[in-house]
Amino acid sequence: MILKSALPYRGRLAPSPTGHLHVGHALTFWRAQERCRARNGRLLLRIEDLDRARSRPGFREAIFEDLEWFGLSWDEAPVFQSDREPLYLPAWRKLREAGLIYRCDCSRRDLLSAAAAPHAEDEESIYPGTCRPVSLTMPNESAPSGFNWRFRVPENAPLEFHDLCAGTQRAMAGVDFGDFVIWRKDNVPAYQLAVVIDDAAMGITEVVRGADLLLSTFRQLLLYRALRLDPPEFYHAPLITDSSGKRLAKRDSARSLRALRTSGWTPESIRAHFR
Ligand code: GLU
Repeated sequence: MILKSALPYRGRLAPSPTGHLHVGHALTFWRAQERCRARNGRLLLRIEDLDRARSRPGFREAIFEDLEWFGLSWDEAPVFQSDREPLYLPAWRKLREAGLIYRCDCSRRDLLSAAAAPHAEDEESIYPGTCRPVSLTMPNESAPSGFNWRFRVPENAPLEFHDLCAGTQRAMAGVDFGDFVIWRKDNVPAYQLAVVIDDAAMGITEVVRGADLLLSTFRQLLLYRALRLDPPEFYHAPLITDSSGKRLAKRDSARSLRALRTSGWTPESIRAHFR
């Protein structure tokens, strides 16, 4: 395995154009930029717009404007996930051939009624395994379209990685999170798969993102392993608080960068007030 810290640093900003940029994201991006500049690295911008139903062109334009206003810049042409859809298919095929994914016909309602309690705000609940084959089985379908596809996580497997900010992280596959969707029935790769393929293809050496994605990192590490790709290093920044130490709610629209800007905040005053 190549030691990532020995490679020229490549970082990324990966906003999703599903709403206006939140101050929490902006500050995490700022940290990503600082870490990248300190290592004389290259910073890339990837717009995560695979979720067609929720991504709006207006938000896309607004994100560019907000990032620039906040003082963020990137070193290569922006990458749009929606332009890269064919790149994700070989990964689906590889996982299929390894028998590591299965077709899931559960409806949203089945899942809600059968699912265990969600672990944290926003976390997907643990899939009860209704469609999971008893053993590793290669699915018959030769293409993913029309179905949800889940990755089979090893049962009760202890996992560990070293986070550059938060230190050693541990989780139990099958207990802290369950089989997760890697391809959706509207024929788009899910976030977990797309982010792994793109970070690997773009040669990202360090992923800087919010601590609310820590559990997803375990999922992604399983995908890196299954696809025989080298994972980047991870730096999960603590969630942002205001100057009194209070955590900011993610969906608080008053905390969008534009709302703050309209009410007279500057990038400098935002960076001084929130941390
Ligand atoms: N697009 C994701 C988000 O905005 C970021 C995912 C990541 O950094 O891996 O939440």
